[in-house]
Amino acid sequence: MAASAIYYAIMTLAHLAYRGGVALAFLGLASATASVLAGFGYWHCRKIRDFSALETWGFVTNLLIVVNVWITVELAFDPYKLVYFIVMTMIFAAVGISLRQILLSIAIALGAMAFQIFQKHQDQTFVLAFMAFGVAFASIGLWWIFRRAMLQVIASRRTAQDQQQKAEELERVARRQANTDGLTGLPNRLRLLRELDESLDRLSAHRDPFALVILNLDGFKNINDNFGHMTGASLIEQVASKLETAAGKDTFCSRMGGDEFAIISFDKAIIGEPDRFAAQLKRSLAGRYELGAYSVSLSLSGGFLLCADPSMTAAGVIERAEFALAYAKKNLRGEVVVFTEQIAHEMENLFNIDQALRTCNLDEEFSIVFQPQHNLTTGRTLGFEALARWNSPSVGAVTPDLFFRVAETSGMLGKLTPVLLRKALAGARWWPEDLTVSFNLSTQDILSTATIDRIGDVVAQSEIPPERVEFEITETALLHEFSLARDNLNRLAGLGHRIALDDFGVGYSNFNYLKRLPITKLKLDRSFLEDVGERPEATEVIHAMIKLAEILGLEAVVEGVETEAQACAIASVGGNVIQGYFISRPIEPEQTKRFLAEPRQGVSNLLFRREVKE
Ligand code: C2E
Ligand code: CA
Ligand code: CA
Repeated sequence: MAASAIYYAIMTLAHLAYRGGVALAFLGLASATASVLAGFGYWHCRKIRDFSALETWGFVTNLLIVVNVWITVELAFDPYKLVYFIVMTMIFAAVGISLRQILLSIAIALGAMAFQIFQKHQDQTFVLAFMAFGVAFASIGLWWIFRRAMLQVIASRRTAQDQQQKAEELERVARRQANTDGLTGLPNRLRLLRELDESLDRLSAHRDPFALVILNLDGFKNINDNFGHMTGASLIEQVASKLETAAGKDTFCSRMGGDEFAIISFDKAIIGEPDRFAAQLKRSLAGRYELGAYSVSLSLSGGFLLCADPSMTAAGVIERAEFALAYAKKNLRGEVVVFTEQIAHEMENLFNIDQALRTCNLDEEFSIVFQPQHNLTTGRTLGFEALARWNSPSVGAVTPDLFFRVAETSGMLGKLTPVLLRKALAGARWWPEDLTVSFNLSTQDILSTATIDRIGDVVAQSEIPPERVEFEITETALLHEFSLARDNLNRLAGLGHRIALDDFGVGYSNFNYLKRLPITKLKLDRSFLEDVGERPEATEVIHAMIKLAEILGLEAVVEGVETEAQACAIASVGGNVIQGYFISRPIEPEQTKRFLAEPRQGVSNLLFRREVKE
């Protein structure tokens, strides 16, 4: 259409230059009309997307061309001008929109030519008529072939486009899934790490500090074990949805995995007042949760890190927040602890201890001291508890509480426990045969079948029979994986060992455990002694505990007895066996012989002396 418009515009100018009179008037008018109409048609069709409109405009343009040729031939007939009609059929076929339009246009063109031939009765024009029909057929045939080829190209291009769209959609879904936690729909750990990197970039570019909070449900494992994984999953879902509401709109919430969640926020209110935000989280998330048939009470511990140092890495940021979380778990369960320099210092200290432990010579640096367990009634020593000591050339003397914590996290405990047990058994070699040696086992020891195997081997290789070796365990192991702990303890009991429950009275003190495990002794925690000798109720509590042990058919040992007054109070309520500084501080293995040789008084003596004093 555009080509026609341009062609007829040029033709109009050409007529002005070469024609005159009637011919100029007719041809000029016809060409100008064709030019204007075709131009308008082009301008109009550019905007419309309607097929039939295009078809109509194409047909109108074809008619204009026929009219132009017709006028040319009419004005001055020349048989060779009939060639225009033949050329027209080719043009119509080439630029046609539809077969209908092409056939109609060609029919009109050939009709016009036939009319001219018959009207002018020129014989030689018949040749042109035949040529015209031949060309018309050939043009339509070509059009048909081109059209099919074009349609195929369009179809395959469309298929390729569809496939690309589908691939892009799939990629989008996959990317979303790779970054989303399947259970809660929150961003997952991967996405969190990216967000953290972006936050650190923003911090270094604009000095925008942000907060990272890591939250962990307290006792989730217990809920999972007791109520089943489906219930656990439902709890995680509920916490996740509450978390999003509690954290506010502009805060990034994610599930790091398991029962751990992380929050990143640039909110000034959160950064400025961590304690208020911590309290807000606690208010919204802690409390009762309805889980189908069950209702559980839940608390969360958290670590809050204010990150304002652009030189920090994502791993360093997470490590600090997790350390604050670990600190909360250990010292302030159910609270969100803000990471401080003091905690950082402790962390550095732990790191140094960790490094020293990994590279140390366990045999040379670790040793055992013994603390006696004393029978107040008979005045005799029943045995000793083995307590580990570490004197490191690089970090100095480290307390057992600290190095066992580090050994558990660094995976060194599996090596350390057999070494310590061997030393404890070696120290006990010279004792009278009725004395026991008590050895502490960590949670990880009790939950490791390999360690239990090693313990069996170490005892078998020593000169001490299993009946004389007692293992002290704490409740924490039982809270984690009860059935595994029970199986391993049964194995130890099966070998002839005795099992004592240490630190009894702090923690959960679930009496159920006592019936389901091969425990023969309770060691009452030293916290019970705090006010003993000062407040009568304190002694009554110990009395109740001793009674409880009696009812359950268990021995009872009161730990941490430091004064004579405490010993007397215990004896007065039926307590027999004590351990603590009052009898002896932990002593070196060589000193045990001398300790055993010293004469010791029985309880009657003790009480008598007390009466005399009063
Ligand atoms: P525990 O088993 O409760 O050991 C008793 C702790 O109380 C010992 O601390 C002991 O020195 C201390 N103690 C004893 N009598 C008194 C007293 O009258 N007053 C006070 N204030 N404290 C007293 P220690 O030796 O620092 O051990 C701490 C903890 O380290 C132990 O607590 C035990 O859980 C762990 N532990 C020690 N040795 C081993 C071991 O060989 N293996 C394992 N797994 N843990 C060990
Ligand atoms: Ca102990
Ligand atoms: Ca204890």
